[in-house]
Amino acid sequence: MVMDHVQTLRCTLCSATYDPDQVIYTCPNHEGVKGILEVEYDYDVVLDRFEEAVDGTIPSQWKYRAFLPVHEETEPVTLNEGGTELYEAPNLSAELGVDTQVKDDGHCPTGVLKDRASSVSVTKAREHGRDVVTCASTGNAAASLSGYAARAGVNCRIFVPGAAPEGKLAQPLVYGADVLAVDGTYDEAYDLSTEATEEYGWYNRNAAINPFQVEGKRTVGLELAEQTREDPPDWLVFSMGDGCTIYGGWKGYREMADLGFVDDTPKMLGVQAEGASAIHEVFHDHDDVTEVAETLADSIAVGRPRNTVKACKALEESGGTSLLVTDEEILAAERTLGSTEGIYAEPAGAAPVAGVRTALAEGIIEPAESVCVVVTGNGLKDTKSAMKATGDVTHIDPDLGDVQELYGTNR
Ligand SMILES: *Cc1c(COP(=O)(O)O)cnc(C)c1O
Ligand SMILES: [Zn+2]
Repeated sequence: MVMDHVQTLRCTLCSATYDPDQVIYTCPNHEGVKGILEVEYDYDVVLDRFEEAVDGTIPSQWKYRAFLPVHEETEPVTLNEGGTELYEAPNLSAELGVDTQVKDDGHCPTGVLKDRASSVSVTKAREHGRDVVTCASTGNAAASLSGYAARAGVNCRIFVPGAAPEGKLAQPLVYGADVLAVDGTYDEAYDLSTEATEEYGWYNRNAAINPFQVEGKRTVGLELAEQTREDPPDWLVFSMGDGCTIYGGWKGYREMADLGFVDDTPKMLGVQAEGASAIHEVFHDHDDVTEVAETLADSIAVGRPRNTVKACKALEESGGTSLLVTDEEILAAERTLGSTEGIYAEPAGAAPVAGVRTALAEGIIEPAESVCVVVTGNGLKDTKSAMKATGDVTHIDPDLGDVQELYGTNR
């Protein structure tokens, strides 16, 4: 059984190629996990199989099955991830001063864009006959993988930093995963998950090293291309942690352009938190790259991003750039997004909105351009951060007098 639409896995550093049907994570010619692999396709075969109408109707990401690195006979493990709404956002546009649309992936089944990748990787784990899947996660990847593992009936063992928001720890527990809260940082949890994978032969979903993860995430780009085909935005904005999501978004959009389904591609704007800025620093050629991860936007609190290579590729190829925002700006953006459009994002999901504000102030984005921000995660998982953004509720007695004190009498 071969995947005839998948040509090869190619190392982004030395161009060595590997059989896509092997379980391989990174190119062994390089130290650690540096040798990130890229999945390459035979687009004649992809196009042959992609018979769907590109008309904006997207039931789930599996509309793009022809693009995904799974065997023709394989039954996908899916909860109908993807196919998320692209909203016009007139109030937000007025507030920011630039024409803005919002793609809300907080509506994916476990509340996060990562479901696109989890669906693909659990499908791959089953193809390879693996009955244990694992990953390291700042929270969302763990919760997401756990849900899909439950769906597939495979065991899930995940490594998270002990400080992850409670909502993100409760969720994988409900999905029946073993949640190993590592007394350390995300980076330490990541290294431990890699060691455990080697020790036990579990199937590792870690996005940056599992070449198929980006392939799942890129359906967000395929969808965006389809949804904006009549008028591609000038800018497509993602937050960056390890850097896989933005590259997935770019690769998908670019493919749709290469295949003639859209005329133009957007510039990618990558947004990082000031306290976790490694990709931004590499992209802008800083001499010293700071390896800390100090931000309340836990999903992008990554000190040593595992996919800087692909993230920078997305920024470069698209003619885009990156910038940093503060935690205060992220929290303000969370509130702005919620109060202008009714979209509740977690901090990392709101960071792109903060990024647009900064980009406008710095003249990176022109007011006459158009922007699409991708909300990568749902705010309901992290109410603690949200309360920092909003301040407290108004406490009153069960007495109309207290209401009248606030709003006056209505006589
Ligand atoms: C994981 C995640 C990101 C960052 O994705 P990377 O692929 O690590 O860059 C952004 N937002 C949310 C909500 C996430 O869960
Ligand atoms: Zn290599």
